[in-house]
Amino acid sequence: MELTPPIEMSASYPPVQEEVARLAGLPEVRAAFDWFRSQEPLFALWQMESTRIAAPPFGEAARGAWLAKRFRELGLSEVQADEIGNVFGVHPGGGSRSVAVSAHIDTVFPATTPLNIRQQGSRLYGPGVADNGAGIAAILAVAGAIRAARIPHTLPFIFIGDVGEEGEGDLRGMRHVFATPRWRDSIAYSVIVDGAGSDTVVAEALGSRRFEVIVRGPGGHSWSDFGTPNPIFVLARAIEAFRQTPVPALPKTTFNVGVIRGGTSVNSIPESASMRIDLRSTSMAEIDRLERVLRMAADQAIDAENRAAAGHGTRRPQAVQSEVAAIGNRPAGELAADARILKVIRAVDAQLGNAAQVQRASTDANIPLSLGLEAIAIGGGGSGGGAHTLQEWFDASARDLGLRRILLTMLALSGVGE
Ligand SMILES: [Zn+2]
Repeated sequence: MELTPPIEMSASYPPVQEEVARLAGLPEVRAAFDWFRSQEPLFALWQMESTRIAAPPFGEAARGAWLAKRFRELGLSEVQADEIGNVFGVHPGGGSRSVAVSAHIDTVFPATTPLNIRQQGSRLYGPGVADNGAGIAAILAVAGAIRAARIPHTLPFIFIGDVGEEGEGDLRGMRHVFATPRWRDSIAYSVIVDGAGSDTVVAEALGSRRFEVIVRGPGGHSWSDFGTPNPIFVLARAIEAFRQTPVPALPKTTFNVGVIRGGTSVNSIPESASMRIDLRSTSMAEIDRLERVLRMAADQAIDAENRAAAGHGTRRPQAVQSEVAAIGNRPAGELAADARILKVIRAVDAQLGNAAQVQRASTDANIPLSLGLEAIAIGGGGSGGGAHTLQEWFDASARDLGLRRILLTMLALSGVGE
């Protein structure tokens, strides 16, 4: 997930605050808090084991199978994977609605990335160790604590390891969860655990749109066909024009060219080349504007390259052509100011003496939020950095604060009888 500057928080809500204080004082909940403190070696083990299993976009099955095993060991019922690889386990309760707690199991790293995961003191190192090794370890820790401390709760808990959160996954896991009647009709609240930390609450869904621009041409020999329009030159022209588009600081709006591919050899004029572009904004209107600018830049680059080739007098009549394909579309959305889940997380933070900021980001929460359902994304505790790089790290110091935060939030949303 990626973050934007904080949104101002308003005051807390006494009735929810009193309920959270009561929950935090229950003997079962205190026992769970002790369990969190004593079981850190187990959490680190889970985190390293899961992170050592490659889980690139569309290749999460092995990590999902590992997670389903852990769900079974922890005594969750109805453990199952759906047809796209989301893994579910239920901790039963009463009532027809339920509270979902989820962590995405995919990473941004291709299957070939060496997953050299290592531990040094309280620190873990390696790609994916925090995003989302920390989230996976956290939902397992919470499931384990509920069982170890025999905590009663009213609404059932649905534990979910979902696929396809990152990049090209385009939130396909969460989309599928909320397209499945059994889950869509029962999940009242979604607590999404993404990455490390305890100091943020994502309550607004940042929208994004992603494109692949594919340019095709006749190709040819670098010497004998010189002057033939070149798809890589087209991309270069388009990028240079698009890059100069002004974007506002508010509403925050960004763009990125993240991948370029194409060509066959150094002495061949390529037959095709492509690039991938990510547009983001808290305003859908800005995303629409950037999309128009991108399409215009691609069209103008094609015209310019074809004109240059014609001017060169090449005998080849074929010209280059481009196609702009949408490869991702994440809906924006936000919680109502009086949403219960927001009152609960604020009360939990007040109870734990935890200072947290409400933020906008693009996470699995985009899907329930865009459907008008209550959802937040929070961290799995500890701290981390270097997300989406090979230098990623996680520090487990004070992980238990993040775990207490998740557990209390789930219990307050579910309800625990007097
Ligand atoms: Zn993540």
